Amino acid sequence: MKRGSSAPVRAAIYARMSTDKQSTDSPGDQIARCRDFAVARGWIVAEGLVVEEPAVSGASRHNRPGFLGLFERIDEWDVLLAWDYSRLTRDPEDYFWIANRLAEAERTAYDCMSGRDLFDLASQMMGVINHHERLKIGENTRRGMRGRWERGFATGGAPHGYTIGADKKVLIDADAAETVRRIFQWSAEGEGLRAIAYRLNAEGVRAPRPRRNRNLAQSWAPSAVQAILKNPLYKGELIFGRTRWKKVHSTGERRCRPLPESEWLRRAVPELAIVSPELWERVQAIKRSKGSTYQRQSGGAFKTTQGHPAYRHRGRHLLTGFLRCGICGGGFFDVHGTGLLGCGWSRDRGPRACVSALRVSAADLEARVLGAIREQVLVPEVVAYAVQTALTEIRQTLSRDDPEKLRERLAQIDAARERLLDAIEDGSVDMEDVKRRLGRLRTEEADVRSRLLELEAEPLDAESLRPQIEQRICEMRAALEGAADERRAALKAFLGDDRLRVLPDAERGFRVEGLLRVRLEAGPARELEGFRAGRIGGSGGGI
Ligand SMILES: [Zn+2]
Repeated sequence: MKRGSSAPVRAAIYARMSTDKQSTDSPGDQIARCRDFAVARGWIVAEGLVVEEPAVSGASRHNRPGFLGLFERIDEWDVLLAWDYSRLTRDPEDYFWIANRLAEAERTAYDCMSGRDLFDLASQMMGVINHHERLKIGENTRRGMRGRWERGFATGGAPHGYTIGADKKVLIDADAAETVRRIFQWSAEGEGLRAIAYRLNAEGVRAPRPRRNRNLAQSWAPSAVQAILKNPLYKGELIFGRTRWKKVHSTGERRCRPLPESEWLRRAVPELAIVSPELWERVQAIKRSKGSTYQRQSGGAFKTTQGHPAYRHRGRHLLTGFLRCGICGGGFFDVHGTGLLGCGWSRDRGPRACVSALRVSAADLEARVLGAIREQVLVPEVVAYAVQTALTEIRQTLSRDDPEKLRERLAQIDAARERLLDAIEDGSVDMEDVKRRLGRLRTEEADVRSRLLELEAEPLDAESLRPQIEQRICEMRAALEGAADERRAALKAFLGDDRLRVLPDAERGFRVEGLLRVRLEAGPARELEGFRAGRIGGSGGGI
């Protein structure tokens, strides 16, 4: 505290309610006690620098904007008060960060409960103790979750074969449990994942709900069968704690980390067993003897560690990943390693999931798609039409803008900013709130200004852009004839996240449907987007 001896000491107060609920003192109580502490010493509490954060963890400073804000305004106070040190931080690194900031600015902080200041050696010990305290709280939380499972309560969704009762207890779903039993039985008899999926789909057995893509039809995939066969819960063994949340020090962010198998918590839950331990073990032994592990891939397809011939060719074709089966929506790729592309769902899930028996030569498909792009899309007339359409759309948007109103809005934004800046000088506002509002004003201002600029600019027309359009078409055509990754990048630019759908066609063997976007840079700061929808035709091809 370097200010003149006559100037009063200004105190800032920080209070925090922890998420761990270990402390029963509310932030309001903590602040009241800190005020008493200040008054007893003849200090004044700097109003506007009394910060409370209701339910954040003390594990990191990064998730506590109010706390960081106090240090940004360190010039406005002389001492920082907290009821006890664990309110300021439970992390040793943050402890030293605080100590360094205070030392630099010749400030200090007080733990009002003990009356010690931060540079007191005993206080430093407290920082270390708090760290251990926090680790202990994490451990307790983990144990609490485990206790919940041990009492038969669910912590998340229930696997296939179970349901969650009204009292949150996990129960066996008799119908689905019967399916699980049959899956294990078939696997023990030597049936493969795909054969089992076929059989279930052929019988119309209710499938687990897909986690992603919920709008797709429900059917059994080999991956769903596999997930069931390896879950020990079906033999009555509950595993908990495969992962743990860990803090990343540099960012304060929390990440989920897998734990080694030796640290997993296992517990017998015979009341939840659906198959006998013997049957479960027999299935695992068969899986081991087959010596291959299946891994789920993004396309819903599989790959084996042994390099099944059906998958060796994956990714080899230009169009791999850009295609979908036009009938079921599943992946469309090289299904048998023969250069013939087909529906992956039809192969993996059986005819009940998809009836498509269509096989298309990769070379034919590639020729047809690229030919259509070159001849029907990347031609000056089509692109000029797309540009014209986009320009018309822009002009329509612009004509809805009234320049007078836009200028008026700019003046209002200015006035609002002035008011916020005044409020900061008063010191009567929440800085975070002000920052957010200033940010919003800045975004709106940029938008209004660019709309004004466009209104004042000369209107564009497609004819004047023609040289640019032709240039761009040449580049795109060149990209489509370039190296493999360049061609894939060009296709990605056309399709975005959309996929081309491959369908059987009586006349031409197959047809491809899709939407291609032509992206063009035109005008000073505006991206134009034109569309050409429809079928990509072409002659011949197909089977
Ligand atoms: Zn299909």
